[in-house]
Amino acid sequence: MLDARLHLIESQPAVAPEHEARPSRQEAEAAVRTLIRWAGDAPRREGLLDTPARVVRAYEEWFGGYAIDPEALLERDFDAAGYDDIVLLRDIPLRSMCEHHMAAIRGVAHVAYLPGERVVGISKLARLVDAYSRRLQIQERLTSEIADTLERVLQPRGVAVIIKASHECIASRGIGMHGVNMVTRRLRGCFDNEPWRSDILEALKA
Ligand SMILES: [Zn+2]
Repeated sequence: MLDARLHLIESQPAVAPEHEARPSRQEAEAAVRTLIRWAGDAPRREGLLDTPARVVRAYEEWFGGYAIDPEALLERDFDAAGYDDIVLLRDIPLRSMCEHHMAAIRGVAHVAYLPGERVVGISKLARLVDAYSRRLQIQERLTSEIADTLERVLQPRGVAVIIKASHECIASRGIGMHGVNMVTRRLRGCFDNEPWRSDILEALKA
């Protein structure tokens, strides 16, 4: 477990290093034409003429998370006004891209916290999931990043994040398994200890 955590820390991708200049849109479109040729088709074929431009625009959406500062999303918080029990946002739609194959990851995230002094608007929890999802990811790191950012910025008494997702790269290639879901979770603070641990796991089951 400790080894796995160390590995996670070492492999943090964060944002592209500054010395790696971002390619131009034309360069990105040329790369798509190369992949079309690699697939065995002709980029000049009529149906494919506008494809590189569309793919690059789609990438802007799929990878829009790099332009978002996840911590800034949580900066506007509110007084908890005496509320001291679990806040749980369930079934947040999640779409990400696996960093090994650049294939789709689809699923849901459940994000919970046990407030300290402060709470955040519930849409911010969904936006936090989105900001980290729209990057090249592995599900394990995605889960940790959401939980750790929520813990660091909001400083609640506990944080729990569970992600259940299917990976297109194992459904459509390699082992070719459909209907397989991967579940990852990260429990922090109070949620990692009884009695809250049983409580949150029960709430997440419901
Ligand atoms: Zn993959």
